[in-house]
Amino acid sequence: DRTDDALAIRGLSAGYRGVPAVRDIDLQVPAGSILALLGPNGAGKTTTLRAAAGLLPVLGGSVTVLGTPIAGRVEHATRAGLCLIPDNRGVFHRLTVAENLRLARSKDGYGPALDRFPQLRGLLNRRCGLLSGGEQQLLAIARTLLLRPRVLLVDEMSMGLSPVAVQRILPELRRVADEDGTAIVLVEQHIDQALSVADEAAVMHHGRIVLTGPAAELRQDRARIQRAYFGD
Ligand code: ATP
Repeated sequence: DRTDDALAIRGLSAGYRGVPAVRDIDLQVPAGSILALLGPNGAGKTTTLRAAAGLLPVLGGSVTVLGTPIAGRVEHATRAGLCLIPDNRGVFHRLTVAENLRLARSKDGYGPALDRFPQLRGLLNRRCGLLSGGEQQLLAIARTLLLRPRVLLVDEMSMGLSPVAVQRILPELRRVADEDGTAIVLVEQHIDQALSVADEAAVMHHGRIVLTGPAAELRQDRARIQRAYFGD
């Protein structure tokens, strides 16, 4: 065991109505590090994130956040410093950007979010439903960072985003890991872009992890990733 892991998932099985959709998941993410979680549709990436966040019962194995066992309880995960940004981003479309930021209920207000992402300043009074996908994603990240997460799980951030928007937003996560020491798990369909900001990568297939390795190494060996996508 590595003691410096902010997130440690060991032998995890989790699923729906008592039936595992993911099995034997082992993932460790140190502080300040990004893990790209890859795999085809239905491989179990979202299920893994939801189980790590305590949103699904743990059917076997364990999840710990900074040494605290989560035990399938979302309040344990939150208290331990874990935040999940879901693939729908969880922003409220009828509320303005400022109102969405206020929902984080940060004691420092939302100033820190604007310092970090000055692009949001000019959008404060705009309704979220009128923002671009990239702006909504930036807002979702900004709001979540107000909660000062130690572990951040990001589910398919680039869903519905243009390639240009993806290219702009992924480096923001790199910055969060580097500057705040946040441990990040990034579920992505854009394999190459995810690998370019990640430290490590894991590929899932049929509910299991079939390949793990340093992101830079896997980036040079796309054939291996391709094979893992097909379960070889
Ligand atoms: P995608 O990229 O399509 O989101 P994924 O890798 O995130 O895929 P999951 O959404 O975790 O995969 O799905 C893993 C398995 O669990 C799939 O077989 C899926 O059908 C099943 N599953 C997902 N959500 C539920 C649910 N609410 N009830 C029952 N089964 C579910």
